[in-house]
Amino acid sequence: MTEDTQAEHQQAETQAFQAEVQEVLHLMIHSLYSNKEIFLRELISNASDACDKLRFAALSDDSLTGGDAELRVEIDVDAEARTLTIRDNGIGMNRDEVAENIGTIARSGTRRFLEQASEKGDLDGRLIGQFGVGFYSSFIVADKVTLLTRRAGDTADQGVRWESEGTGEYTIAQATREHQGTEVVLHLKEGEDEFLQGWTLRSLVSRYSDHIGFPICLRGEPAEGEEQGEWEKVNQAAALWTLPKADITDEEYQSFYQHVSHDMAEPLAWAHNRVEGVQNYTSLLYLPKRAPLDLMLQRDERKGLRLYVKRVFIMDAAEQLLPHYLRFVRGVVDSDDLPLNVSRELLQENELVRKIRSAVVRRSLDLLGRLADNETEKYNGFWDEFGPVLKEGIVEDTANREKIAGLLRFASTQDPDAGQRTSLSEYIARMQEGQEHIWFVTAENFKAARNSPHLEIFRKKGIEVLLLSDRIDEWMMGYFTEFDGHAFRSVAKGDVDLGSEEDKQDAESQPEQEELLDRIRHVLGEEVAEVRASRRLTDSASCLVIGEHEMALHMRHLLEQAGQELPDSRPSLEVNLEHPLLARMEQAEDASFDDLAHILYEQAVLAEGGQLDDPSGFVQRLNRVMLQA
Ligand code: ADP
Ligand code: MG
Repeated sequence: MTEDTQAEHQQAETQAFQAEVQEVLHLMIHSLYSNKEIFLRELISNASDACDKLRFAALSDDSLTGGDAELRVEIDVDAEARTLTIRDNGIGMNRDEVAENIGTIARSGTRRFLEQASEKGDLDGRLIGQFGVGFYSSFIVADKVTLLTRRAGDTADQGVRWESEGTGEYTIAQATREHQGTEVVLHLKEGEDEFLQGWTLRSLVSRYSDHIGFPICLRGEPAEGEEQGEWEKVNQAAALWTLPKADITDEEYQSFYQHVSHDMAEPLAWAHNRVEGVQNYTSLLYLPKRAPLDLMLQRDERKGLRLYVKRVFIMDAAEQLLPHYLRFVRGVVDSDDLPLNVSRELLQENELVRKIRSAVVRRSLDLLGRLADNETEKYNGFWDEFGPVLKEGIVEDTANREKIAGLLRFASTQDPDAGQRTSLSEYIARMQEGQEHIWFVTAENFKAARNSPHLEIFRKKGIEVLLLSDRIDEWMMGYFTEFDGHAFRSVAKGDVDLGSEEDKQDAESQPEQEELLDRIRHVLGEEVAEVRASRRLTDSASCLVIGEHEMALHMRHLLEQAGQELPDSRPSLEVNLEHPLLARMEQAEDASFDDLAHILYEQAVLAEGGQLDDPSGFVQRLNRVMLQA
């Protein structure tokens, strides 16, 4: 052994994958098998990212290209050895980068994905590509993967060789590499020989990767006397968004979506626009069909909207170009005017970026608006997946509030079984004569909203009420005061004055009723702010009501459980003087009156979906009353 190879040998290390990586590998191999050809898309996508990165780095240091004139991706087959190699002359990786990117899963998203997936007991491989585990898809078809790489700018002896059989360990060693860039060699499993065939590879490239902006080359048939065929470019190699709209087919738009989003499903809709004028830029925006699992989490690192400057990939700029409430939008923005050396910091404050951002927002909302107007079914699908996210926009984006409000859909007493399908304009069109407000109720869940006692008088008078039960609703309604000149009012807050004279007479209580209310007040004492005759109940005996600007009780409860200190506030108890229970109370003796008054209060708490302070006390009271009956 020469000294040299000994040194190399000492640097070879065998390491265990992180536990998460093993899980991902296992999940990948089993759940993605029916889509096994996606490994090629993932590896080509990595190669193209690497070329993008080198092109960007070379802007400030020309020597980094290493003399290679053209960035490209090669797909090479060795039929005898049964290997398939994907090679690029892009940025490459040094040893630390290989260990970091290929041996561990640094991105927290993957861990969360796994946690959620195993919690739900539903290891759905559909989303796996979205979590930055693309490289590992090689193990669907390979029982051994060798990655050889050299970072652009490093010397030949700084190459790295990484190898794994995907069963828990990998080795990493120094290697001598003549060229910079990366080569991934897949040792195909038994039975995967189709991926050695030129026409299979060709058709996969044109299906999945035609629009990639770099040439993807395959070897053709060798000519007489030649050992290997010539390299042939097999994709269009024109960045899709730069082509005229009329030249792009739906299939091309769809496959490009899969490239930017790593989603295996088709997109729901897209909008492709070229803006020319003071500023020139192109945007290609997509709406996904299904929400990724971690959509509701606040991800620190958001991906999905790529920023290019004059066709050069600059960075993932979802955070700079999209507000949080549009985080489901995917796509590409390519500006002709931004400087190529634009940094994240510059993006934050740049005036051009601000303009692009507001145009991206407008185009996304317009795309949604077009779906809502013309393709109801698609829009409903969107709403069911992303509705709660879009609602954040009511609070977050005051400038576009009216536009967002037009996109909201609610469940309604008009047709509660239909789901969230009522728009505010539809509600307004159905309003009764003289009705001023848009009435709504918020509750912890749909059932509680639908069965809320607060709806009784509205039901009796045929006034429609919107049923809000998403977690975000109570928060959103705190900021959302009116739509199209009509103020929002909660049926559970403040006094309901539906405006008719007959109501006012009804509400005037008789002296003996005043006495009854006083007795109840006396029994309940500090537990409630007030006890009064209700104008909103027709069937139930009692309900809780809070002040017009106070937080709904279920929300309060939620925050208290989360450990938040809230200002003290107590609900009022409204009682239905027409209810037989109240008539009975007038005759009741003190002891049973006490029980009944407490039960009135306690059942109102329960009807809200609330929790009793003293549940066993309630049970005892109830039993006493039942035994007396
Ligand atoms: P993602 O592409 O979503 O980041 P992958 O699992 O596909 O996830 O790749 C992980 C990382 O490995 C990449 O982010 C990149 O840093 C690195 N990588 C993979 N393939 C290459 C390549 N051909 N050239 C350079 N770096 C690569
Ligand atoms: Mg990738």
